Amino acid sequence: MSEPRKARIATTSLAGCFGCHMAILDIDERLIELLKLVDIDRSPLTDIKRFTQRCDIGIIEGGCCNEENVHVLRDFRRNCDVLIALGQCAIMGGLPAMRNAIMHSDDPLRECLEEAYISGPYLRNTTHNIPNDPALPLMLDKVYSCADVVEIDYQIPGCAPSGDVIYSALSRLLAGKFHGFDRETIRFD
Ligand code: SF4
Repeated sequence: MSEPRKARIATTSLAGCFGCHMAILDIDERLIELLKLVDIDRSPLTDIKRFTQRCDIGIIEGGCCNEENVHVLRDFRRNCDVLIALGQCAIMGGLPAMRNAIMHSDDPLRECLEEAYISGPYLRNTTHNIPNDPALPLMLDKVYSCADVVEIDYQIPGCAPSGDVIYSALSRLLAGKFHGFDRETIRFD
């Protein structure tokens, strides 16, 4: 009898801190059981840079702060049957979205960059330049959540979500039994 087909998972980090990927590793020894059920395609965990085939599940860390993030997110939506927003940055922008609150000038993005590179306290930028190498991805006017850009199927909240919560969601999703979290599983008190 042939082995059942393994599910294929891809992951990426957009405007995130990689803490959510570290939380995936917090699944610890249960990763061994999980890897009997899944293969990992494009992901920082495998260092595979492009999809090798269509995936069952895409896991997104981080929201969108630049055009490269939008490009990658749309690529994941095209190549994954189910898309999961993992962590607060993917769900609502998280810490990077603090810049969305800058509204003092007519050009909030420039105000943000000037504070980050020129006028902010504790800075020593003798050139008074804001990085503008053409290789840098274009910044968006503000930080967008993943759901602002593409359709998202599931959210796993937390900063970062615990390994237990991620394992619970993934194992139930793979068994076709994931219908969201109950209040006891997701609590921050
Ligand atoms: Fe990092 Fe928290 Fe954002 Fe995850 S949700 S990428 S841990 S800041």
